[in-house]
Amino acid sequence: MKLTDSVLVLKGIGQKTADLFEKMNLKTIEDLLFYFPRGYEKYQEPIAINQLSDGMNAFCGKVDGRPVSKKVRHLTITTLFVSDLTGKIQLTFFNMPFIANALKPGEAYVFRGVIRETAKTGTYCEHPKIFKKEEYQKRMQSLYPVYPLVKGVTHATITKAILQILSSGFSLEERLPFTILQKYDLLPIQEAILQIHLPLNEISAANARRRLVFDEFFLFLFSIALLRNETEKMQNCYPCIETADIPRFIERLPFNLTKAQTNVWNEVKQELMSEFVMNRLIQGDVGSGKTIIAVLAMIMSATNGFQSAMMAPTEVLARQHFELVKSMATQYALPLKPILLTGSLSVKEKKLAQNLIRDNEVNVVFGTHALIQDHVRFHTLSLVITDEQHRFGVRQRETFADKGMQTHVLVMSATPIPRSLAMILFGDMNLSVMDELPRNRLPIKNCVVDHKFRKKAYELMQDEIHHGRQVYVICPMIEEGEMDGLENVSDYKTKLKSFFPDSIRIEALHGKMKPIEKNRIMERYAEGLIDILVSTTVIEVGINVPNATIMMIENAERFGLAQLHQLRGRVGRGKHQSYCIFVSGTNNQTTMDRLSILNNSNDGFKIAEEDMKLRGPGDLFGIRQSGMMDFVLADVFQDATILQEAQKEVAAILVEDPTLSKPEHARLKWLKEHDRYHQVDFRTI
Ligand code: ADP
Ligand code: MG
Repeated sequence: MKLTDSVLVLKGIGQKTADLFEKMNLKTIEDLLFYFPRGYEKYQEPIAINQLSDGMNAFCGKVDGRPVSKKVRHLTITTLFVSDLTGKIQLTFFNMPFIANALKPGEAYVFRGVIRETAKTGTYCEHPKIFKKEEYQKRMQSLYPVYPLVKGVTHATITKAILQILSSGFSLEERLPFTILQKYDLLPIQEAILQIHLPLNEISAANARRRLVFDEFFLFLFSIALLRNETEKMQNCYPCIETADIPRFIERLPFNLTKAQTNVWNEVKQELMSEFVMNRLIQGDVGSGKTIIAVLAMIMSATNGFQSAMMAPTEVLARQHFELVKSMATQYALPLKPILLTGSLSVKEKKLAQNLIRDNEVNVVFGTHALIQDHVRFHTLSLVITDEQHRFGVRQRETFADKGMQTHVLVMSATPIPRSLAMILFGDMNLSVMDELPRNRLPIKNCVVDHKFRKKAYELMQDEIHHGRQVYVICPMIEEGEMDGLENVSDYKTKLKSFFPDSIRIEALHGKMKPIEKNRIMERYAEGLIDILVSTTVIEVGINVPNATIMMIENAERFGLAQLHQLRGRVGRGKHQSYCIFVSGTNNQTTMDRLSILNNSNDGFKIAEEDMKLRGPGDLFGIRQSGMMDFVLADVFQDATILQEAQKEVAAILVEDPTLSKPEHARLKWLKEHDRYHQVDFRTI
């Protein structure tokens, strides 16, 4: 078996599974080996029934009497009681009448499942898995990897496939020099891959993870270092001069630029006028007013006869920028001819847009990352702006450089990473910091509460809506049943509808909707035609509706702090007092400590630092800053130390052996040439 072989060479994997695997980007044996678990499931020691708490539990109990089944419409509900010396609990199964025969009354089993509680039924356990005692004992010895899956693929499918590869005598060539492995006590790659999938215990899983995180950072930093060598001191082919449009525009804006905005704009302007190509990151907290800098840069490019493009991570955000610039162009008589290029355009519309861009009929283009990069030929593209860049994919940064178009690059990010880390992760760019919020803002009022507070929160909402304001409610899930015990958008909308009078307009928004539908809802919300938007984190980045004043986040414990901060950044964007309500689904102390960081500060950078301190190392797979820091395994916050170590080693190698000609660097050179550096970059939220 070769690493480059198709997954089809595996026994038990036919075309059907291969097609499903392809959806997960798993085409080859190597892809599978590098498909890492998101975490591990551990079978805990069973606990006493009177100690059971919310969430996943295991307990051992004797079956009391015969299970009872009853039919309620199309459902067969089977209930039974189990007890130990400390108490008794009800188990409930749906459409599993055969359970009755599988369990012997009087016999003891281990049950593992989610404990729930309702006022009507009291505490019960829904659909627990049932084990013989000895079988459970055996399971407790192991860690079970949990993989991100698509429908139709199970953990067992992946584990079996990986076991088959691992037992077939595959071999992976080491990519890191031996001295580095030794210095940082890192597992060889072969061993790391084995242990990440089939760890002996938690320590070996942690070691495997550390090695692979090092790898990920190392290879990433290596490629940006090489990129920097290529792009540094590239000639500016689109030198600009400052035309009168710019000061006139700034003068006419309804607000004064903050000092930070003025400084950053000056830095950008200087570079657009200079001899060399710009490659700059603007880091500014949510709401610091980064968009206006982008608009200024686009005006400058347009007034000098060039084109510019602005890319956003979601279509909704791309559209928002487009609408803003379109209306500004009219209002301020700017020489801008904007166009929107997104996936939801028809083939014909796309073609038309592409032609207009190619023929220089339009000069500012808005779209999502993928669209603008893939198919578009520009006439004279001088500047590419990337908004809300949290992803560190190198591909994205180098595409334009690759095409031989020496375009200016401006990246705007609200990712609140400490400056020291930003300097490493964006080592190929210059950094501008916007460390000031516009002055007309009132600080957001925060609270961290449990679900008992909901009623009060709804009253506050009603009050705000009555005064013409708008509300966001965030749920982690889209529909019922995706994950036990978590709020979902669809049921939540129904729940709110029954709570509020009909005059309050409530809509739902989530990532599985068609783009057209998402756009329509977002537009209506922006126009004030929707009062409450119940949404998943699709609205996480960039969305700007200054009239919204309440952000309520359900199951706040499920999100990373940086992500919560981003979500909160959707309110407090106008002159009204805003509120953010974090509803925690658990009273767990660690969770409460994390959330209280948000409660006490509205400053993204401070939050990031506190979060880093609190989590520290040792958290095997903590809450990922999902959507924020898209390394596969690595987490910029949690693994900050490894990031710094990797950076040190990359720099040392490039000083010592810039051409990678030493034998111990051969594998690195090979990797570079074979493009294995690049992570999968584009994911639409
Ligand atoms: P972000 O940095 O999060 O992208 P935006 O650029 O979307 O922030 O700006 C947020 C809001 O603040 C917008 O409504 C924008 O018009 C407004 N804004 C930007 N700069 C200023 C300023 N100097 N004074 C007052 N409001 C501003
Ligand atoms: Mg923004």
